[in-house]
Amino acid sequence: MGQGQEKRDGGVSGSSIATRTVRAGVDSDSGHNAVMPPVHLSSTFRFHGLGQKAEYDYTRSGNPTRSNLAEALADLEGGFGATITGSGMAAIHLVCQLVGRRELLIAPHDCYGGTHRLLTTMAKVDRFDVLFVDQSDRDALAAAFALGPKMILVETPSNPLLRVTDFSLVREFAEKFGTVMVADNTFLSPVFQNPLALGADIVVHSTTKYLNGHSDVVGGVAIAKTESLHEELEWWANCLGVTGAPFDSFLTLRGLRTLQVRMAQQAQTAKGLAELLRQHPRVRQVFYPGLEDHPNHQVAKRQQMGFGAMLSFELANLQEVERFVQSLVFFSLAESLGGVESLVAHPATMTHAAMSPEARRTAGISDGLIRLSVGLESAQDLGRDITAALNRVSIEAVS
Ligand code: PLP
Repeated sequence: MGQGQEKRDGGVSGSSIATRTVRAGVDSDSGHNAVMPPVHLSSTFRFHGLGQKAEYDYTRSGNPTRSNLAEALADLEGGFGATITGSGMAAIHLVCQLVGRRELLIAPHDCYGGTHRLLTTMAKVDRFDVLFVDQSDRDALAAAFALGPKMILVETPSNPLLRVTDFSLVREFAEKFGTVMVADNTFLSPVFQNPLALGADIVVHSTTKYLNGHSDVVGGVAIAKTESLHEELEWWANCLGVTGAPFDSFLTLRGLRTLQVRMAQQAQTAKGLAELLRQHPRVRQVFYPGLEDHPNHQVAKRQQMGFGAMLSFELANLQEVERFVQSLVFFSLAESLGGVESLVAHPATMTHAAMSPEARRTAGISDGLIRLSVGLESAQDLGRDITAALNRVSIEAVS
């Protein structure tokens, strides 16, 4: 499989993703012929005259800098249009507006902890019904779809266990039951996966992660396949006030320009680290879809253009996790992912702490699980760092 440059689909034709990210919005400034698009921070825009609104009137409803980012992301994912939000959670909250009272939303049982918390809370206050399902289980999916869901949220690969959901299976059910299919593409970005081409109606991202790529913005996006879905999301985004800030859009577009090279390099390093971890006697299990013995390797190969730069692995217990993370030099102990810098996280106490211990157990998230977001540091340095930290775990276990 290539590194994401060649295999394109989703209604996007012509140039490669590297070219499109670099050229997005370039030469579009008609005011001063700026090569790079300027940032428009103004919250409000002058009318031509009474009753004569210009293209933009108020930044919550629309803003030229946000439009530059929206056009770039809609193009990369092959959607009709993109709605830029203030965070990834705002994007997920936004798409939830399409589900009415007493209607059902199906979500993955091992989704991002914040998504799990949002959906559980919405169900608790009777906003809509939610069913968490193991989406790799065909029978469980069939039983859930038999209830006639309005929406299904797919998150693949999943966070933090990197399970891969088969889009063709979900698409088959979603088409049969007229269910809106939403895919969270945060882990792979359009460089490695195009959910709209695989049957989704809406793609969401936490742009905080790979799309921005520099861990200095919190943002999100919902990209709709059709004009009518896009219009509906735009209406709700303005109504709720969840649209993203112009300066954040400017920074995200700046980060996006290097997306393809970042993803390719980070994924290559991640594969090497997954292999290294697998060989260490202290490591019980490694979760990375690029490994041939990963249970969903074949599905990943079929529907993805790369395996991404996220991986997780298991040590025996919390004490070992503590020793390991304290010994690392080049991985910062922090939540989030997708930046140029490598991060290490402990899902049970960090990213997935919002889930109940029982929900974590059902999802397979043990106390010994560690998640790595592999950055752009040298692969050799990262490998040496991990080996040294694991060796320290082994030495302290013996002494
Ligand atoms: N979706 C996934 C897969 C995530 O990992 C996250 C955050 O980690 C989110 C959504 C939420 O994004 P944000 O933190 O930008 O609100």
